[in-house]
Amino acid sequence: MQNNNTIVTLLGIPFDPHSSFLQGPALAPDRIRQTLHNGAGNYWTENTDNPIEHEHFQDIGNIEFDNYLDIERRMAKVLTNGSKALTLGGDHSITYPIIRAYQQFFDDFEILQIDAHGDLYDEFEGNRYSHACPFARIMEEKLVGKLTQVGIRTFNPHQREQVARFDISVVEAKDFEEKWKSLSFEKPLYISLDLDGLDPAFAPGVSHHEPGGLTTREVLRLIQNINAPVIGADIVEYNPHRDISDMTAALAAKLLKEIAGKMLAGC
Ligand code: MN
Ligand code: MN
Repeated sequence: MQNNNTIVTLLGIPFDPHSSFLQGPALAPDRIRQTLHNGAGNYWTENTDNPIEHEHFQDIGNIEFDNYLDIERRMAKVLTNGSKALTLGGDHSITYPIIRAYQQFFDDFEILQIDAHGDLYDEFEGNRYSHACPFARIMEEKLVGKLTQVGIRTFNPHQREQVARFDISVVEAKDFEEKWKSLSFEKPLYISLDLDGLDPAFAPGVSHHEPGGLTTREVLRLIQNINAPVIGADIVEYNPHRDISDMTAALAAKLLKEIAGKMLAGC
């Protein structure tokens, strides 16, 4: 079922200076688009929707911004016309200004974060806007009511304290198999997909290889089973320098299609 009032806008935010380890995700939006359109596959989702050629889907290219916090203002412009945004990062730091913009237009929503890392550091190497920190900023400013993290496998004591402090729901990678089916979302949902949530065997093109992650099929099932309207999403941390034969770009393009299909379906 397609909701005729929904416009889904694809955009890129080629920003990676807040990466703590390697640069490269700034190249990701263009590389993911190239792979999406390279003719190796078609535009159809597994449920046989074609979001990419849908009349309510548009790609506005990469947005320009003056500095990190300016991303919020540029995102707000995208959302002003009632659109929902599907953003290609960039490193994971971009999610904080994106959510600040979302909070201006959407009253009550929650976030599903798929990631190897909690990204909950109060500060990382002196930077409170590091890609290791966005969800600490989002939760301390109470920008969303609820955050659910899936696939995490790197918590240290500080991050576990942050989980308790912000009352975050977590399905850690080690518990995924038994717990993923009980995931349920009561409010409109924003998906923040860090590609390192998948195992490096499935997603080698990321800066931080963290073994023991989710399979491609597990992430697809998770997305396909979401029981709430998806109002926005980002796909972040693709690093072409680390990729092998564009495998991870193809993964990102497929997840882009599946998430766009979900967004256009309205539920
Ligand atoms: Mn992350
Ligand atoms: Mn990560």
